[in-house]
Amino acid sequence: MDLREEITTIKGIGDKTAACFAKLGIHNVGELINTFPRDYIFYGEPVDIKDTKIGVRNVVCGMVYSYVDVKRVRSLKIVTMTVKDSSGTLKITWFNQPYLKNLFHKGETYVFVGEIKIKNNMRVMEHPEYYKQGEYESMRQELQPVYPLTKGLSNKTFQKAVRSARSAYLNLKDYIPVEIRNENNLMELTESYENIHFPMNEEILKNAIRRTAFDEFYRFLYELKILKNENIKLSNSHRIVQGKAVSEFIQSLPYGLTKGQQQAIEDILADMGGEDVMNRLVQGDVGSGKTVVAAASLFACAKEGFQGALMVPTEVLAKQHYDELSKLFLHFGIKVCYLVGSTPIKEKRRIYEEISEGSIDILIGTHALIEDKVEFKNLALVVTDEQHRFGVNQRNRLASKGDYPHVLVMSATPIPRTLAIIMYSDLDISVIKELPKGRKPIKNCVVGTNYRNTAYRFIAGQVAEKSQVYVICPMVDTSDTMDLTNVIEYTDTLKEALPPEVVVETLHGKMKADEKNEIMQRFLDRKIDVLVSTTVIEVGINNPNATVMMVENSERFGLAQLHQLRGRVGRGDKQSYCIFINGKEDDEEVTSRLKVLEDSNDGFFIAGEDLRMRGPGDFFGIRQSGDMQFNIADIYNHADMLRLAQEILDKHSDTVVPDVVESIKQINI
Ligand code: ADP
Ligand code: MG
Repeated sequence: MDLREEITTIKGIGDKTAACFAKLGIHNVGELINTFPRDYIFYGEPVDIKDTKIGVRNVVCGMVYSYVDVKRVRSLKIVTMTVKDSSGTLKITWFNQPYLKNLFHKGETYVFVGEIKIKNNMRVMEHPEYYKQGEYESMRQELQPVYPLTKGLSNKTFQKAVRSARSAYLNLKDYIPVEIRNENNLMELTESYENIHFPMNEEILKNAIRRTAFDEFYRFLYELKILKNENIKLSNSHRIVQGKAVSEFIQSLPYGLTKGQQQAIEDILADMGGEDVMNRLVQGDVGSGKTVVAAASLFACAKEGFQGALMVPTEVLAKQHYDELSKLFLHFGIKVCYLVGSTPIKEKRRIYEEISEGSIDILIGTHALIEDKVEFKNLALVVTDEQHRFGVNQRNRLASKGDYPHVLVMSATPIPRTLAIIMYSDLDISVIKELPKGRKPIKNCVVGTNYRNTAYRFIAGQVAEKSQVYVICPMVDTSDTMDLTNVIEYTDTLKEALPPEVVVETLHGKMKADEKNEIMQRFLDRKIDVLVSTTVIEVGINNPNATVMMVENSERFGLAQLHQLRGRVGRGDKQSYCIFINGKEDDEEVTSRLKVLEDSNDGFFIAGEDLRMRGPGDFFGIRQSGDMQFNIADIYNHADMLRLAQEILDKHSDTVVPDVVESIKQINI
C-alpha cells in the first residue's frame, strides 16, 4: 500500500467514511498512519460502586435496575437510568442521545466506563462508554488507542482503518542508520509506527512516542537548516534608517517604554539599517507590550517610504491591532489598512489595488494576507504576531511577496532560552523580560471545587464594580460533544448563581467565525460581563477592563498553557485575579504543580519549573505547545528529543536525511 493512495483504497472505507476522515484533514494513507492517537486507555478490572473515585475515570459493572427514562430539559434530551452492584447504586446519564434508551434492558448487566461526579448527593456517571460483559472481557488489560474523532466516525472504525493500512508503514525504510539508533536508544521506524498505534505495553509505547517526537523535531530542524542555508546573509535591499523619527514616535506614546521594549526596538533598527536582511524574534511574556515594538518597526518602515505587513492568527486580533495602530499613527500621516477573510469582496478588491499601487503603507490582517491576489508595491517588513500559530512555511509565503523583506516575529510562548535557540535557529532573538511599570501583579489562588460558590460571589462583586470576567472550561478535544455540553450547561449554572442583571455569554470552538468575532467584539465593548469560554479564547486579545479569570479543571491544562490563559487579565491599572479550580485536590503531584502558578507570574520561570517537575520521562504530559506544527512532539514534554535532534543534525545532516517528508501530513499550511 502506497502512502499517497487515497484512503478509499482501504478495505471498508467508503465515500461516507472518507468524508469524515477528510474533516480531520486525512485524505490519503500517509495522512492516516501519521494521525496518532490522542490518548490511550487502559481497560482495567471493574471496581465496586462504593469504591469509585470522584472526578476520575472508573470502570463499573452493574445491573440496570430502574426503567430507562428520557427527559426533556430545555433543549436537551436526557437519558437516565440507575444501575447497581452488590455495594451500591449509580446513576447514569447521557445528553442528546435518546436512541440509547432502547439499548439497555432492565435486569441486564453491563460494564460502564466514565468519570464519576456527585450531583444531589448521588454518584453520577455522565456519558460513559458501555459494553456488554463479554465484549469488555475481550479488550481488558489492553492499551486501547483513542484517535481524534469527528461526528460519524467512531474510534472502532478509525482503529480498523489503521490496522488495514498497516502494510503502508511496515514497508518504510528507516532513514536513521542503525548505529546512530543504537547509540541514542531510538526505536526503529516501523516498530515505532506499529507501537504508537497498537502498543504492546506502556514501556514500549513510551519509546515509540519518543521516537516519533524525535522524527517530528528532526524533520522540522532539517527543513529549517535548508531554509537557513538558502537565506544565509541575504544582503539588505531595504535600508531603513529612521532612528530620529522613531524617537519622535516613542515620545508621542502615552507611556514610557520599558528597558526590554527599548532594547528590542534598538535591535530591530540596527538590523533594518544594517548590511543583511533582518530575521528577528521578539520573545516577551504575555502583557509585556510587544505590539508597540511591532508598531515602532512598522512606523520606521513606512517613514522610509516602504510598505509593511502585520499578520496575526485571528480576525478579532487583527481588528484590535488595526484599531491600536491607527490610533498610534494618527498624527503621522501613515495609511493603515485591514484585510481579513470576512472583508467584503468589493472592499477586498479596492485594498488589492491600493496595495499594488503603494498608497497603503501598512497592511494588517490574517491569512488573507498571503493569498495570491495580494501584491505589494514595495514590501520591506513582514511582522507575524503570535508566531507559534504559523508554520515556517506561512511566514515564508508572506515574505515571498516582497523582494527579501525584513522579517520580525513576536512570540509569547515562554520557551526556555536553550530550547528557543534550537526552535528558532533561523532567527536572532530579542527578549523583553519585564512588564510595564505600574502593573499590579495578578493575585492567584489555586482552590478546590468547594470554593466555587465563594468564587461566584467574588465574580458578582467585581462585575458590580464594572469589571469583566473570563471563565474557562476545558475542551479536551474539539470533536467531543460532551465538552460542548459542559460549556453550555456551565453557562446556565453560572447564570443561576449570579445576579440576574449580569450578562453571561458563551464562546466555543464550534461557533462560526463571524459569530465568534461578534461575541468577542461585544466583550471588548463591555456589553458582556462574564464570558464563558473554552480555550478558543483568542490569543493576544487585550481587554484591560477584564480583571478576573476563573479556570475550571485547571489540572487538565499544562502550566505554560495556564499561564498564557492568565495573560488575558492583569493588562490594565486595576488589580486582577486568577482563580484556578483544582478538580484533583487529593492528588499531591497535581496540586504542587498548580501551586507554581500561585507563586509566580513569570512565564519563563513557570515553563522551566514545569519542565523540571515532569522530567524527561513523562511522555504522557499535557501538550502545551499544541499550536506548533507537530502531531505529537511537544517542546516541553520532549525537550530531550529536541536537543538530540539538534545534536544529530549538527553531526550527521549529510547522511541522516528524513525521506518521508513529503508523505507526511502538512499541518498549518
Ligand atoms: P503583549 O506583549 O501581550 O502583546 P500588548 O502589546 O497587547 O502585550 O500590551 C498590553 C498592554 O500594555 C496594552 O494595553 C498596551 O497599551 C500596554 N503597554 C505596552 N507597553 C507599555 C508600557 N511601556 N507602559 C505601560 N503600558 C504599556
Ligand atoms: Mg500580543
